[in-house]
Amino acid sequence: MTTNKTDVIIVGAGVAGVAAGITLARAGKKVVIVERGSYAGAKNMFGGAIYDYPTRDLYPEFREQAPIERVNKTHKYMINDDNTSVTLSFNNEKSETSYTVIRAKWDKWCVERAVELGAYYSPMTVVRELIVKDGKVVGIKTDEEEFYADIVILADGANSLLAKQIGLRKNLKDCENAIGVKEVISLPKEVIEERFNLSPEGGCVTEIIGAPMKGITGLGFMYTNKNSVSIGLGVNLDELKKHKLTPNELLNKLKEHPSIAPLIKDGELLEYSAHLIPEGGFNAMPKLYGDGVMVVGDAGMLVNNVHWEGTNLAMMSGMLAAQTAIEALNKNDFSSKMLSLYEKKFKETSFYKDMRTYKDAVKIVHNNAYSFLWFYPQKINEFFEMFTESGYVPRRSLYKRFIKNFIKKRNIKGLIKDAINFARLFFGVLK
Ligand SMILES: Cc1cc2nc3c(=O)[nH]c(=O)nc-3n(C[C@H](O)[C@H](O)[C@H](O)COP(=O)(O)OP(=O)(O)OC[C@H]3O[C@@H](n4cnc5c(N)ncnc54)[C@H](O)[C@@H]3O)c2cc1C
Repeated sequence: MTTNKTDVIIVGAGVAGVAAGITLARAGKKVVIVERGSYAGAKNMFGGAIYDYPTRDLYPEFREQAPIERVNKTHKYMINDDNTSVTLSFNNEKSETSYTVIRAKWDKWCVERAVELGAYYSPMTVVRELIVKDGKVVGIKTDEEEFYADIVILADGANSLLAKQIGLRKNLKDCENAIGVKEVISLPKEVIEERFNLSPEGGCVTEIIGAPMKGITGLGFMYTNKNSVSIGLGVNLDELKKHKLTPNELLNKLKEHPSIAPLIKDGELLEYSAHLIPEGGFNAMPKLYGDGVMVVGDAGMLVNNVHWEGTNLAMMSGMLAAQTAIEALNKNDFSSKMLSLYEKKFKETSFYKDMRTYKDAVKIVHNNAYSFLWFYPQKINEFFEMFTESGYVPRRSLYKRFIKNFIKKRNIKGLIKDAINFARLFFGVLK
Protein backbone atom coordinates (compact mmCIF):
# COMPACT_ATOMS: atom_id res chain seq x y z
CA MET A 1 0.00 0.00 0.00
CA THR A 2 2.08 2.88 1.32
CA THR A 3 4.67 3.55 4.02
CA ASN A 4 2.22 5.85 5.81
CA LYS A 5 0.56 2.86 7.44
CA THR A 6 -0.03 2.16 11.11
CA ASP A 7 -2.20 -0.16 13.24
CA VAL A 8 -4.74 2.42 14.42
CA ILE A 9 -5.39 6.10 13.65
CA ILE A 10 -7.44 8.08 16.17
CA VAL A 11 -9.05 11.32 15.01
CA GLY A 12 -9.31 13.78 17.91
CA ALA A 13 -7.25 14.16 21.08
CA GLY A 14 -10.18 14.86 23.42
CA VAL A 15 -10.88 12.60 26.40
CA ALA A 16 -12.27 9.78 24.22
CA GLY A 17 -9.45 9.78 21.66
CA VAL A 18 -6.66 9.87 24.22
CA ALA A 19 -8.34 7.10 26.27
CA ALA A 20 -8.24 4.93 23.15
CA GLY A 21 -4.68 6.02 22.35
CA ILE A 22 -3.23 5.27 25.77
CA THR A 23 -4.93 1.84 25.89
CA LEU A 24 -3.46 0.90 22.50
CA ALA A 25 -0.01 2.29 23.34
CA ARG A 26 0.04 0.34 26.61
CA ALA A 27 -0.62 -2.84 24.62
CA GLY A 28 2.32 -2.04 22.37
CA LYS A 29 0.22 -1.30 19.26
CA LYS A 30 1.24 1.34 16.72
CA VAL A 31 -1.16 4.23 17.17
CA VAL A 32 -1.35 7.74 15.73
CA ILE A 33 -3.50 10.41 17.41
CA VAL A 34 -4.39 13.27 15.08
CA GLU A 35 -5.66 16.56 16.54
CA ARG A 36 -6.69 19.73 14.70
CA GLY A 37 -5.93 22.03 17.70
CA SER A 38 -2.48 23.51 18.27
CA TYR A 39 -2.38 21.33 21.41
CA ALA A 40 -4.75 18.80 22.96
CA GLY A 41 -7.48 20.69 24.80
CA ALA A 42 -7.02 23.90 22.80
CA LYS A 43 -10.43 23.42 21.15
CA ASN A 44 -12.18 21.72 24.06
CA MET A 45 -14.39 23.05 26.82
CA PHE A 46 -16.73 21.60 29.40
CA GLY A 47 -18.18 22.50 32.81
CA GLY A 48 -16.40 20.67 34.30
CA ALA A 49 -15.93 17.66 36.36
CA ILE A 50 -14.14 14.44 35.51
CA TYR A 51 -15.00 11.31 37.45
CA ASP A 52 -12.85 8.98 39.49
CA TYR A 53 -14.26 6.06 37.50
CA PRO A 54 -13.05 5.30 34.83
CA THR A 55 -10.27 7.93 35.02
CA ARG A 56 -8.34 5.84 37.57
CA ASP A 57 -8.40 2.77 35.28
CA LEU A 58 -6.78 4.76 32.48
CA TYR A 59 -4.42 6.95 34.47
CA PRO A 60 -3.69 5.18 37.81
CA GLU A 61 -1.31 8.00 38.80
CA PHE A 62 -3.67 10.88 37.97
CA ARG A 63 -4.64 11.79 41.52
CA GLU A 64 -1.03 12.58 42.47
CA GLN A 65 0.30 13.82 39.12
CA ALA A 66 -2.44 15.28 36.93
CA PRO A 67 -3.41 18.97 36.88
CA ILE A 68 -6.49 18.63 39.10
CA GLU A 69 -8.10 21.86 40.26
CA ARG A 70 -10.27 20.74 43.18
CA VAL A 71 -11.95 17.64 44.65
CA ASN A 72 -15.72 18.12 44.46
CA LYS A 73 -16.83 17.57 48.03
CA THR A 74 -19.87 19.84 47.90
CA HIS A 75 -22.77 19.51 45.45
CA LYS A 76 -25.41 22.22 45.41
CA TYR A 77 -28.76 22.37 43.64
CA MET A 78 -29.89 25.96 43.33
CA ILE A 79 -33.52 26.64 42.39
CA ASN A 80 -33.92 30.23 41.27
CA ASP A 81 -36.75 32.69 41.04
CA ASP A 82 -35.87 36.12 39.59
CA ASN A 83 -34.44 37.46 42.83
CA THR A 84 -34.42 34.63 45.33
CA SER A 85 -33.13 31.06 45.44
CA VAL A 86 -33.56 27.85 47.39
CA THR A 87 -30.40 25.75 47.60
CA LEU A 88 -30.01 22.14 48.59
CA SER A 89 -26.43 21.33 49.56
CA PHE A 90 -24.78 17.93 49.90
CA ASN A 91 -21.36 17.64 51.46
CA ASN A 92 -19.20 14.51 51.31
CA GLU A 93 -15.78 14.64 52.95
CA LYS A 94 -15.34 10.86 53.13
CA SER A 95 -14.99 9.81 49.49
CA GLU A 96 -13.75 11.29 46.22
CA THR A 97 -15.92 10.84 43.16
CA SER A 98 -15.22 13.83 40.93
CA TYR A 99 -12.65 16.56 40.34
CA THR A 100 -12.69 19.86 38.52
CA VAL A 101 -10.11 20.21 35.76
CA ILE A 102 -9.34 22.75 33.05
CA ARG A 103 -9.43 20.96 29.69
CA ALA A 104 -6.51 22.92 28.23
CA LYS A 105 -4.31 21.50 31.00
CA TRP A 106 -6.00 18.11 31.50
CA ASP A 107 -6.13 16.99 27.84
CA LYS A 108 -2.50 18.06 27.38
CA TRP A 109 -1.40 16.02 30.42
CA CYS A 110 -3.31 12.93 29.18
CA VAL A 111 -1.86 13.04 25.67
CA GLU A 112 1.64 13.40 27.11
CA ARG A 113 1.07 10.11 29.03
CA ALA A 114 0.01 8.40 25.78
CA VAL A 115 3.12 9.72 24.01
CA GLU A 116 5.33 8.49 26.87
CA LEU A 117 3.89 5.01 26.28
CA GLY A 118 4.70 5.13 22.57
CA ALA A 119 1.72 6.77 20.82
CA TYR A 120 2.55 9.09 17.92
CA TYR A 121 0.76 12.42 18.29
CA SER A 122 0.14 14.91 15.52
CA PRO A 123 -1.39 18.25 16.59
CA MET A 124 -2.41 21.00 14.13
CA THR A 125 -3.60 18.34 11.69
CA VAL A 126 -7.16 18.51 10.42
CA VAL A 127 -8.62 15.30 9.03
CA ARG A 128 -10.67 16.35 6.00
CA GLU A 129 -12.08 12.98 5.06
CA LEU A 130 -11.84 9.25 5.52
CA ILE A 131 -10.37 7.05 2.83
CA VAL A 132 -12.85 4.31 2.03
CA LYS A 133 -12.03 1.34 -0.23
CA ASP A 134 -14.62 -1.30 -1.12
CA GLY A 135 -16.87 -0.01 1.69
CA LYS A 136 -14.11 -0.31 4.28
CA VAL A 137 -12.43 2.61 6.07
CA VAL A 138 -8.69 2.29 5.41
CA GLY A 139 -7.26 5.68 6.31
CA ILE A 140 -7.54 9.45 6.57
CA LYS A 141 -6.84 12.42 4.32
CA THR A 142 -5.38 15.61 5.79
CA ASP A 143 -4.61 18.80 3.87
CA GLU A 144 -1.15 17.50 3.01
CA GLU A 145 -1.17 13.74 3.06
CA GLU A 146 -2.94 10.42 3.20
CA PHE A 147 -2.37 8.03 6.11
CA TYR A 148 -3.48 4.42 6.25
CA ALA A 149 -4.39 2.16 9.15
CA ASP A 150 -6.06 -1.17 9.82
CA ILE A 151 -8.57 0.63 12.03
CA VAL A 152 -9.65 4.27 12.33
CA ILE A 153 -11.27 5.43 15.59
CA LEU A 154 -13.45 8.53 15.26
CA ALA A 155 -13.15 10.65 18.43
CA ASP A 156 -13.84 13.94 16.67
CA GLY A 157 -16.50 15.24 19.01
CA ALA A 158 -20.15 16.34 18.97
CA ASN A 159 -20.31 17.40 15.33
CA SER A 160 -18.51 14.39 13.85
CA LEU A 161 -18.29 15.26 10.15
CA LEU A 162 -16.35 12.05 9.56
CA ALA A 163 -19.07 9.79 11.01
CA LYS A 164 -21.49 11.66 8.73
CA GLN A 165 -19.26 11.08 5.70
CA ILE A 166 -19.61 7.32 6.09
CA GLY A 167 -23.32 7.43 6.96
CA LEU A 168 -22.96 6.47 10.63
CA ARG A 169 -24.45 9.80 11.66
CA LYS A 170 -27.11 12.04 10.19
CA ASN A 171 -27.11 15.84 10.10
CA LEU A 172 -27.52 17.40 13.54
CA LYS A 173 -31.08 18.30 14.49
CA ASP A 174 -31.45 21.42 16.67
CA CYS A 175 -33.79 19.59 19.05
CA GLU A 176 -31.07 16.97 19.66
CA ASN A 177 -28.40 19.49 20.56
CA ALA A 178 -27.73 22.07 23.21
CA ILE A 179 -25.21 24.84 23.20
CA GLY A 180 -23.04 25.27 26.26
CA VAL A 181 -21.46 28.64 27.05
CA LYS A 182 -19.03 29.26 29.85
CA GLU A 183 -16.97 32.03 31.42
CA VAL A 184 -13.92 31.39 33.56
CA ILE A 185 -13.65 34.11 36.18
CA SER A 186 -10.42 34.57 38.07
CA LEU A 187 -10.53 35.08 41.85
CA PRO A 188 -7.93 34.58 44.59
CA LYS A 189 -7.88 31.05 46.03
CA GLU A 190 -8.74 32.21 49.57
CA VAL A 191 -11.69 34.27 48.28
CA ILE A 192 -13.12 31.22 46.50
CA GLU A 193 -12.71 29.09 49.63
CA GLU A 194 -14.38 31.71 51.81
CA ARG A 195 -17.30 32.41 49.45
CA PHE A 196 -18.04 28.75 48.72
CA ASN A 197 -17.16 27.55 52.25
CA LEU A 198 -14.45 25.17 51.02
CA SER A 199 -11.38 23.50 52.51
CA PRO A 200 -8.08 24.29 50.70
CA GLU A 201 -8.48 21.28 48.36
CA GLY A 202 -12.29 21.05 48.33
CA GLY A 203 -14.49 22.06 45.42
CA CYS A 204 -18.13 22.86 44.86
CA VAL A 205 -20.38 21.93 41.93
CA THR A 206 -23.57 23.97 41.62
CA GLU A 207 -26.44 23.01 39.30
CA ILE A 208 -28.84 25.88 38.65
CA ILE A 209 -32.52 25.47 37.80
CA GLY A 210 -35.03 28.23 36.97
CA ALA A 211 -34.13 31.90 36.38
CA PRO A 212 -32.82 33.20 34.08
CA MET A 213 -33.86 30.29 31.83
CA LYS A 214 -37.48 30.63 32.99
CA GLY A 215 -38.89 27.55 31.35
CA ILE A 216 -36.45 27.35 28.45
CA THR A 217 -34.97 23.84 28.42
CA GLY A 218 -31.62 24.48 29.98
CA LEU A 219 -29.63 24.47 33.19
CA GLY A 220 -26.91 26.62 34.64
CA PHE A 221 -23.73 25.47 36.35
CA MET A 222 -20.87 26.72 38.47
CA TYR A 223 -17.63 24.85 39.23
CA THR A 224 -14.86 26.02 41.51
CA ASN A 225 -11.29 25.73 40.26
CA LYS A 226 -8.15 26.57 42.24
CA ASN A 227 -8.01 30.24 41.29
CA SER A 228 -11.14 30.67 39.22
CA VAL A 229 -14.84 29.92 39.00
CA SER A 230 -16.38 28.45 35.84
CA ILE A 231 -19.93 29.64 35.32
CA GLY A 232 -22.13 28.76 32.38
CA LEU A 233 -25.25 27.18 31.04
CA GLY A 234 -26.45 24.68 28.51
CA VAL A 235 -29.58 25.47 26.50
CA ASN A 236 -31.42 23.53 23.83
CA LEU A 237 -30.80 25.04 20.37
CA ASP A 238 -34.45 24.80 19.28
CA GLU A 239 -35.55 26.71 22.36
CA LEU A 240 -33.05 29.52 21.78
CA LYS A 241 -34.40 29.95 18.26
CA LYS A 242 -38.00 29.84 19.43
CA HIS A 243 -37.44 32.46 22.13
CA LYS A 244 -35.06 34.56 19.96
CA LEU A 245 -32.41 34.52 22.68
CA THR A 246 -28.65 34.27 22.62
CA PRO A 247 -26.86 32.09 25.18
CA ASN A 248 -24.61 34.97 26.30
CA GLU A 249 -27.68 37.13 27.12
CA LEU A 250 -28.81 34.35 29.43
CA LEU A 251 -25.34 33.93 30.90
CA ASN A 252 -25.11 37.66 31.68
CA LYS A 253 -28.44 37.45 33.49
CA LEU A 254 -27.30 34.37 35.37
CA LYS A 255 -24.22 36.23 36.60
CA GLU A 256 -26.40 39.12 37.80
CA HIS A 257 -28.71 36.92 39.89
CA PRO A 258 -28.58 38.20 43.51
CA SER A 259 -27.59 34.74 44.81
CA ILE A 260 -24.76 34.38 42.26
CA ALA A 261 -23.35 37.88 41.75
CA PRO A 262 -21.69 38.05 45.22
CA LEU A 263 -19.92 34.74 44.56
CA ILE A 264 -18.08 36.10 41.51
CA LYS A 265 -17.87 39.77 42.54
CA ASP A 266 -14.63 41.56 41.55
CA GLY A 267 -13.54 38.53 39.52
CA GLU A 268 -11.68 39.05 36.24
CA LEU A 269 -12.95 37.39 33.06
CA LEU A 270 -10.23 35.02 31.83
CA GLU A 271 -12.01 33.13 29.08
CA TYR A 272 -15.33 32.81 27.24
CA SER A 273 -16.12 29.65 25.29
CA ALA A 274 -19.00 27.83 23.64
CA HIS A 275 -19.45 24.20 22.62
CA LEU A 276 -22.14 21.85 21.36
CA ILE A 277 -23.62 19.23 23.69
CA PRO A 278 -25.21 16.22 21.95
CA GLU A 279 -28.48 15.99 23.85
CA GLY A 280 -30.20 13.28 21.89
CA GLY A 281 -28.87 10.65 24.27
CA PHE A 282 -29.95 7.03 24.02
CA ASN A 283 -32.54 7.66 21.28
CA ALA A 284 -30.03 9.41 19.02
CA MET A 285 -27.11 7.00 19.49
CA PRO A 286 -25.87 5.86 16.07
CA LYS A 287 -24.31 2.52 15.17
CA LEU A 288 -20.82 2.77 16.69
CA TYR A 289 -18.87 0.66 14.19
CA GLY A 290 -18.40 -0.19 10.55
CA ASP A 291 -15.77 -1.99 8.47
CA GLY A 292 -12.42 -0.70 9.75
CA VAL A 293 -13.97 2.01 11.91
CA MET A 294 -15.34 2.71 15.42
CA VAL A 295 -16.97 5.85 16.85
CA VAL A 296 -16.35 6.95 20.44
CA GLY A 297 -17.36 9.73 22.87
CA ASP A 298 -19.45 12.70 21.73
CA ALA A 299 -19.01 11.60 18.10
CA GLY A 300 -21.24 8.65 19.08
CA MET A 301 -23.64 10.95 21.02
CA LEU A 302 -22.55 9.20 24.24
CA VAL A 303 -23.68 11.73 26.82
CA ASN A 304 -25.80 11.48 29.97
CA ASN A 305 -27.55 14.85 29.94
CA VAL A 306 -29.42 14.47 33.20
CA HIS A 307 -26.13 14.31 35.13
CA TRP A 308 -23.99 16.50 32.81
CA GLU A 309 -21.75 13.48 32.23
CA GLY A 310 -19.79 12.98 29.03
CA THR A 311 -16.13 12.60 29.90
CA ASN A 312 -16.71 9.29 31.71
CA LEU A 313 -18.66 7.86 28.76
CA ALA A 314 -16.00 9.23 26.40
CA MET A 315 -13.18 7.57 28.38
CA MET A 316 -15.03 4.27 28.72
CA SER A 317 -16.00 4.12 25.03
CA GLY A 318 -12.43 5.03 23.99
CA MET A 319 -11.02 2.32 26.23
CA LEU A 320 -13.45 -0.35 24.98
CA ALA A 321 -12.93 0.58 21.33
CA ALA A 322 -9.17 0.27 21.87
CA GLN A 323 -9.55 -3.12 23.58
CA THR A 324 -11.62 -4.31 20.62
CA ALA A 325 -9.00 -2.93 18.22
CA ILE A 326 -6.31 -4.91 20.09
CA GLU A 327 -8.32 -8.12 19.67
CA ALA A 328 -8.96 -7.29 16.01
CA LEU A 329 -5.25 -6.64 15.37
CA ASN A 330 -4.30 -9.91 17.06
CA LYS A 331 -6.77 -11.78 14.84
CA ASN A 332 -6.05 -9.65 11.75
CA ASP A 333 -9.81 -9.15 11.35
CA PHE A 334 -11.05 -5.57 10.90
CA SER A 335 -14.51 -6.43 9.70
CA SER A 336 -17.66 -4.76 10.90
CA LYS A 337 -18.61 -8.03 12.62
CA MET A 338 -15.38 -8.09 14.63
CA LEU A 339 -15.61 -4.40 15.56
CA SER A 340 -19.27 -4.75 16.60
CA LEU A 341 -17.83 -6.32 19.78
CA TYR A 342 -17.02 -2.79 20.90
CA GLU A 343 -20.67 -1.70 20.80
CA LYS A 344 -21.65 -4.93 22.54
CA LYS A 345 -19.13 -4.24 25.33
CA PHE A 346 -20.27 -0.64 25.66
CA LYS A 347 -23.89 -1.77 26.01
CA GLU A 348 -22.88 -3.83 29.04
CA THR A 349 -21.51 -0.79 30.94
CA SER A 350 -23.30 1.17 33.66
CA PHE A 351 -22.90 4.27 31.45
CA TYR A 352 -24.98 2.81 28.62
CA LYS A 353 -27.53 1.51 31.12
CA ASP A 354 -27.81 5.03 32.59
CA MET A 355 -28.36 6.43 29.09
CA ARG A 356 -31.18 3.91 28.66
CA THR A 357 -32.64 4.75 32.09
CA TYR A 358 -32.88 8.41 31.13
CA LYS A 359 -33.89 7.81 27.53
CA ASP A 360 -37.15 9.77 27.84
CA ALA A 361 -36.17 12.08 30.67
CA VAL A 362 -34.85 14.93 28.51
CA LYS A 363 -37.91 14.74 26.23
CA ILE A 364 -40.34 14.76 29.17
CA VAL A 365 -38.57 17.73 30.77
CA HIS A 366 -38.38 19.49 27.38
CA ASN A 367 -42.12 19.00 26.76
CA ASN A 368 -42.92 20.27 30.26
CA ALA A 369 -40.19 22.86 30.52
CA TYR A 370 -42.47 25.70 31.61
CA SER A 371 -43.87 23.83 34.60
CA PHE A 372 -40.79 21.82 35.61
CA LEU A 373 -38.20 24.52 35.01
CA TRP A 374 -40.12 27.70 35.83
CA PHE A 375 -43.54 27.35 37.47
CA TYR A 376 -42.36 25.02 40.27
CA PRO A 377 -39.03 26.82 40.86
CA GLN A 378 -41.04 30.02 41.33
CA LYS A 379 -43.51 28.35 43.67
CA ILE A 380 -40.77 26.73 45.76
CA ASN A 381 -39.20 30.17 46.20
CA GLU A 382 -42.57 31.77 47.00
CA PHE A 383 -43.22 29.10 49.59
CA PHE A 384 -39.93 29.77 51.40
CA GLU A 385 -40.43 33.52 51.16
CA MET A 386 -43.76 33.06 52.92
CA PHE A 387 -42.37 30.50 55.39
CA THR A 388 -39.51 32.75 56.51
CA GLU A 389 -41.63 35.89 56.71
CA SER A 390 -42.79 37.17 60.08
CA GLY A 391 -45.43 39.85 59.82
CA TYR A 392 -48.90 41.04 60.66
CA VAL A 393 -50.72 38.43 58.58
CA PRO A 394 -51.30 35.10 60.39
CA ARG A 395 -49.52 32.14 58.78
CA ARG A 396 -52.76 30.23 58.18
CA SER A 397 -54.00 33.07 55.93
CA LEU A 398 -50.67 33.14 54.11
CA TYR A 399 -50.80 29.38 53.45
CA LYS A 400 -54.40 29.61 52.19
CA ARG A 401 -53.48 32.48 49.89
CA PHE A 402 -50.46 30.53 48.59
CA ILE A 403 -52.55 27.42 47.78
CA LYS A 404 -55.31 29.50 46.15
CA ASN A 405 -52.78 31.31 44.02
CA PHE A 406 -51.04 28.04 43.14
CA ILE A 407 -54.26 26.44 41.87
CA LYS A 408 -55.32 29.61 40.05
CA LYS A 409 -52.04 29.75 38.12
CA ARG A 410 -51.78 26.08 37.25
CA ASN A 411 -55.45 24.92 37.54
CA ILE A 412 -56.42 21.39 38.54
CA LYS A 413 -56.05 20.04 34.98
CA GLY A 414 -52.50 21.42 34.75
CA LEU A 415 -51.58 19.98 38.13
CA ILE A 416 -52.88 16.54 37.16
CA LYS A 417 -50.92 16.74 33.89
CA ASP A 418 -47.76 17.66 35.80
CA ALA A 419 -48.32 14.82 38.27
CA ILE A 420 -48.72 12.34 35.39
CA ASN A 421 -45.58 13.62 33.66
CA PHE A 422 -43.64 13.53 36.89
CA ALA A 423 -44.80 9.94 37.45
CA ARG A 424 -43.81 9.09 33.83
CA LEU A 425 -40.38 10.50 34.54
CA PHE A 426 -40.11 8.75 37.89
CA PHE A 427 -41.49 5.35 36.86
CA GLY A 428 -39.72 5.54 33.48
CA VAL A 429 -36.48 5.83 35.38
CA LEU A 430 -37.40 2.94 37.70
CA LYS A 431 -38.62 0.66 34.90
C1 LIG B 1 -20.87 23.32 28.52
C2 LIG B 1 -20.49 21.89 28.70
C3 LIG B 1 -20.34 21.40 29.99
C4 LIG B 1 -19.99 20.05 30.17
N1 LIG B 1 -19.74 19.62 31.44
C5 LIG B 1 -19.33 18.35 31.64
C6 LIG B 1 -18.91 17.92 32.93
O1 LIG B 1 -18.86 18.69 33.88
N2 LIG B 1 -18.53 16.62 33.08
C7 LIG B 1 -18.50 15.76 32.03
O2 LIG B 1 -18.15 14.58 32.22
N3 LIG B 1 -18.86 16.14 30.78
C8 LIG B 1 -19.25 17.42 30.56
N4 LIG B 1 -19.55 17.85 29.29
C9 LIG B 1 -19.48 16.87 28.18
C10 LIG B 1 -18.03 16.55 27.83
O3 LIG B 1 -17.29 17.73 27.69
C11 LIG B 1 -17.96 15.75 26.52
O4 LIG B 1 -18.87 14.68 26.57
C12 LIG B 1 -16.54 15.22 26.29
O5 LIG B 1 -15.64 16.27 26.19
C13 LIG B 1 -16.51 14.36 25.02
O6 LIG B 1 -15.17 14.01 24.75
P1 LIG B 1 -14.72 13.64 23.26
O7 LIG B 1 -13.31 13.28 23.37
O8 LIG B 1 -15.69 12.70 22.69
O9 LIG B 1 -14.92 14.99 22.44
P2 LIG B 1 -14.12 16.35 22.55
O10 LIG B 1 -13.64 16.56 23.93
O11 LIG B 1 -14.99 17.38 21.93
O12 LIG B 1 -12.85 16.12 21.63
C14 LIG B 1 -12.92 16.05 20.23
C15 LIG B 1 -11.55 16.38 19.67
O13 LIG B 1 -11.53 16.11 18.27
C16 LIG B 1 -10.83 17.15 17.62
N5 LIG B 1 -11.28 17.16 16.22
C17 LIG B 1 -12.55 17.36 15.77
N6 LIG B 1 -12.60 17.23 14.43
C18 LIG B 1 -11.34 16.94 14.02
C19 LIG B 1 -10.76 16.71 12.75
N7 LIG B 1 -11.49 16.71 11.62
N8 LIG B 1 -9.42 16.48 12.67
C20 LIG B 1 -8.66 16.44 13.82
N9 LIG B 1 -9.17 16.65 15.05
C21 LIG B 1 -10.49 16.89 15.15
C22 LIG B 1 -11.21 18.40 18.43
O14 LIG B 1 -10.31 19.47 18.24
C23 LIG B 1 -11.19 17.84 19.84
O15 LIG B 1 -9.92 17.93 20.43
C24 LIG B 1 -19.86 19.18 29.06
C25 LIG B 1 -19.99 19.69 27.76
C26 LIG B 1 -20.28 21.03 27.58
C27 LIG B 1 -20.34 21.57 26.18
